[in-house]
Amino acid sequence: MSTRDRGLEPIPLCVPRVAGNEGAYLLECLETNYVSSVGPFVDRFERDFAAAVGARHAVATSSGTAALHVALLLAGVRPGDEVLVPSLTFIAPANAVRYVGAHPVFIDVDPGHWQMNPASAAEFLERRCGRASGSLVNLESGRPVTAVLPVHLLGHAAPMAEIGELAGRHDLAIVEDATESLGATYRGRKLGSSGNLSCFSFNGNKLITTGGGGMITTDDPALARRAKYLTTQAKTDPIEFIHGEVGFNYRLTNIQAAVGCAQLECLDEYLAAKRRIALRYAGGLANIPGLTLPAAPGDVESAWWLYTVRVGGIGAALDRRELLTRLAERGIEARPLWQPMHLSPAHAGSIAMPCEAAEEVHASALSLPSSTGLTESDQTRVVNALRDIFGTSSPPAGD
Ligand SMILES: *Cc1c(COP(=O)(O)O)cnc(C)c1O
Repeated sequence: MSTRDRGLEPIPLCVPRVAGNEGAYLLECLETNYVSSVGPFVDRFERDFAAAVGARHAVATSSGTAALHVALLLAGVRPGDEVLVPSLTFIAPANAVRYVGAHPVFIDVDPGHWQMNPASAAEFLERRCGRASGSLVNLESGRPVTAVLPVHLLGHAAPMAEIGELAGRHDLAIVEDATESLGATYRGRKLGSSGNLSCFSFNGNKLITTGGGGMITTDDPALARRAKYLTTQAKTDPIEFIHGEVGFNYRLTNIQAAVGCAQLECLDEYLAAKRRIALRYAGGLANIPGLTLPAAPGDVESAWWLYTVRVGGIGAALDRRELLTRLAERGIEARPLWQPMHLSPAHAGSIAMPCEAAEEVHASALSLPSSTGLTESDQTRVVNALRDIFGTSSPPAGD
């Protein structure tokens, strides 16, 4: 630890902020005895969440991963199907594809914004697939290709116009993983309001948290009803224990939903905090040779979930591994991105397009402290540490 940072509190990567009505609502759960998986807060959280993202319906789930699992079933993905997933992502969406017995096809990301690259998807669909008895099949595996699962990474948004166009042309269902990008907009519309099945997560480091939990949004009332049914053990009779099919216990509890309602009341405040943090990093870290700052595409208003930079390049003095260590020595928690899925032992043997960009981004990217409660002085400490490590100690002029 350098002298400057010795004895200072560690700065975590991304921790929840619990500063609103959480306590009052939890007390209400205890006082009314609604502590389990039904209760007024579940209904309210679903209603308020749908309103917040501009979707007609929202169905709460026990996690974002559970939301993805059920959304793929709702989208009609069957065992043996293939589903396009970006290689650069947290593992949950790829796992969800496997839970339904389908096979992920890993697609590269674009090197500028790191989202699923429509050109890579198009190359798979147009060069490696063909039509057989009315449906699209992977010519090599012989399996039907039935869905695409774009992941809106790091608070930004995937290029849905291009992905939607490809999906339309090839009859693919779309399930959006918006778990990292609650509050972001794409072409002026909030993620979750596209009409596609969209999934959200409320684990501890997401924009809002319920401790753990998730949500599916849709505009289709029949899909919403089926989502509720599948996530509640597919019970068909209100009294008798009669189950129409094999369902899941993927319910969110009233206690978790109570926390969610309180968190949702702070959504705009949290989004403003994330934007402020991104702006301060952009100013404080400008013009450091060897450090590339993120930028949102023109048609995306990012939620800036985790501010993630790229380290290195030609002649760079240090790489992201070294930077991670140097920041850790100063009590600053940074984190690499996820191992690309086409290299993951969990998905060994999967089909993948060439994924050079995913590999390059993974090799060089590092997420910086981005908690909504990050204070200005803590953020200044991070900025100064980075300038110090890179040997450019004076902030850029005018700052
Ligand atoms: C957080 C996250 C999820 C879901 O996480 P849960 O812990 O299951 O709520 C899914 N996909 C991505 C990309 C995520 O970052």
